[in-house]
Amino acid sequence: MDFWIRTFGTGLEAFVVLIAVLYAASLVVLFTTGMAMTLLNSRHPGRKIQKRQPTHDAIRDIRSSTIQLMITSTCLAIGLYAQMRGWTLFPPVALSWWSVPLFFVVSLILHDTWFYWGHRILHTRLFYRFHKPHHMTVTPTVWSNDAGSSVDTLFAHSYYALVLFVLPIPPLVFLGHRLFDQVSAAIGHCGYEHFASRSARKPWPLLCTLYHDQHHQYFVYNYANYFSFWDRFCGTIHPTYDDRVESFEELYAGKRDQA
Ligand SMILES: [Zn+2]
Ligand SMILES: [Zn+2]
Repeated sequence: MDFWIRTFGTGLEAFVVLIAVLYAASLVVLFTTGMAMTLLNSRHPGRKIQKRQPTHDAIRDIRSSTIQLMITSTCLAIGLYAQMRGWTLFPPVALSWWSVPLFFVVSLILHDTWFYWGHRILHTRLFYRFHKPHHMTVTPTVWSNDAGSSVDTLFAHSYYALVLFVLPIPPLVFLGHRLFDQVSAAIGHCGYEHFASRSARKPWPLLCTLYHDQHHQYFVYNYANYFSFWDRFCGTIHPTYDDRVESFEELYAGKRDQA
């Protein structure tokens, strides 16, 4: 962040420019990932997860995403700006061979925990009205991830505004986590399974697109974001998930026509 401070200082304008740059970057990621996955899907029609077609057009989701990504960018900027100003408990750890993988994985695990429990709260009677707009999509598309209400977005992404206050994550690792989050979440909504593998099913904790697709289909399963351990531990993983991942692996190997 030294470069940032030299260029923009630490005043309010530095904070505003930070939001603008993060927002512009998030739009680039939204459209690049969206177009790349749309192309990949068109080349592999047999990998479609649900038989039903999406019932809404992409424009509605894109319009909503452009608003929600502004909120996410502000959350990221709050965390980075606070770290830059020294308002956090610890200064960021320097980049090194051990700090990059360690803080990346720790941040993913913490965010997954934040996301899982926040998501469970959003499914309660009191909070569901904030999450309902996202669930209007039963058959998600690559544009659906950020579409929803602002309270919904804050539940998932306030993590980025808060975590740097207590954890000295290097800023580049923090941004790398957010990039991974945005890309993997877009792929997680793309409606086609391209990434089924052994590591995405029992006993491994990783996921593939089917995971969140089943959340949209069946509603009360698969609440987590990056890993399956919270859902497995709490008994909220969909009973067919592991078998269907294996079916997609067989589809790739040419042993089946349809997973
Ligand atoms: Zn949900
Ligand atoms: Zn979703």
